[in-house]
Amino acid sequence: MPKQKSFCDYVVDHVSQAASLISLDPDIRQILAQTINEVIINFPVKTENGEVEMFTGYRVQHNNVMGPFEGGVRFHPALGIEEVRVLANCMTWKAAIANIPFGGASGGIQFDPTKYSLDDLERITRRFTFALGNNIGPEYDIISPDIGTNSQIMAWVLDTYLSTMPPHKRQACKHVVTGKPIKSGGSLGRDKATGQGIVFLIQKWAEEKNFNLKGATYIVQGFGNVGSWTARLLKPLGAKLIAVEDFTGAIFNQEGIDPEDLCEYVKKNRKIAGYSQAKAVDHKAFLQTKADVFVPAALENQINSETAPLLNVKLVAEGANGPTDPEGDRILRKKGIDLLPDILCNSGGLIVSYFEWLQNKRSEFWELEEVDSKLHTRIINAYNLVIDKSKELKVDMRTAAYAAALSRLERVYKRRGIFP
Ligand code: NAD
Repeated sequence: MPKQKSFCDYVVDHVSQAASLISLDPDIRQILAQTINEVIINFPVKTENGEVEMFTGYRVQHNNVMGPFEGGVRFHPALGIEEVRVLANCMTWKAAIANIPFGGASGGIQFDPTKYSLDDLERITRRFTFALGNNIGPEYDIISPDIGTNSQIMAWVLDTYLSTMPPHKRQACKHVVTGKPIKSGGSLGRDKATGQGIVFLIQKWAEEKNFNLKGATYIVQGFGNVGSWTARLLKPLGAKLIAVEDFTGAIFNQEGIDPEDLCEYVKKNRKIAGYSQAKAVDHKAFLQTKADVFVPAALENQINSETAPLLNVKLVAEGANGPTDPEGDRILRKKGIDLLPDILCNSGGLIVSYFEWLQNKRSEFWELEEVDSKLHTRIINAYNLVIDKSKELKVDMRTAAYAAALSRLERVYKRRGIFP
């Protein structure tokens, strides 16, 4: 039987298609097809119960021609080198589209964080950071949160990294981590940044389509950082959340689900199952919900040949990385459903990570209005770049996004040349 294609294969296909379309220089194509560094670390941790357990951690650095590597750290039981590699790739494309002077990296640990106590999580995070050593650094490779990690984890990464530095260098190294708690040098607006970027783009889409978001309905898959913030930020625009799904199931209420109230519930219960203000529905019913906007903000390959035919929405705004496979893409296009592709749509987190990094370097602290307004400018510029590319090449938004990223990287390489 032929091997089933993965998210990694799809990204390789998208890049290859876009590279051919813009006749990307073959030398640069070769360079971008490889990651620069891949670190795999097996490390022991003595857990709360006194036992020693081995963990596997990863850090993959794809490309740094635009600036230092930057990318998330994911804690997930199914994490493997292939997935980390493709996530690192995606960070390079995202930074290039948003014109952020960062390269792409990604990493994480293969384990299920929900099965460990807070004390154990701290030990695992610190041991991993220590093992990474000089493979990360504020001007070299910057860490940010992703699935299964948050500002608390970032605080432990920071503290461990700084503890390995000579005392006189510590203050100048805070920007090795972004997505930190505010009191540890974090930026206002970083926690909501990915969701905020998605909402700015949904507003832009609505404006261009002459579509009124007041009274519009939306459904969200995944109610973690990205899904919950997107849901909360759409509400003040007058839109109504009517269905939500997480790893414990799906809920529906045609009259509307209050995202703030659901957030409180999830904070206490760590899941949406059992929420009393909506009825439980199955996965199929969730996908069939008639709504205006669908925000997938959970895992990869959720919109595919089986699920895409069920969707009854006008726009898919990809909060997750790789939620749609190529067959899903084809079906969405055939059904006339618009799509905001991941490498554009969820770049708000990366953009505000860059703002946090800048604030740390300059010892500045920006007000929330400044962060939001700068994010708005950057992400709308990125949107316009992709729209222009899609018109120029007469292709869909995803292909245009990859083409725009490759064109920008090609220009940088052409100017610099290749050493020696
Ligand atoms: P998170 O861990 O905070 O939340 C993940 C959510 O997905 C949880 O609600 C979980 O219950 C849900 N989920 C897991 N399995 C599911 C399933 N089978 N069906 C339905 N829901 C399921 O993670 P996050 O940071 O919100 O990231 C979500 C996605 O967004 C990921 O693809 C991530 O790479 C991407 N992303 C995150 C950021 C960021 O700043 N955090 C930035 C860009 C992209």
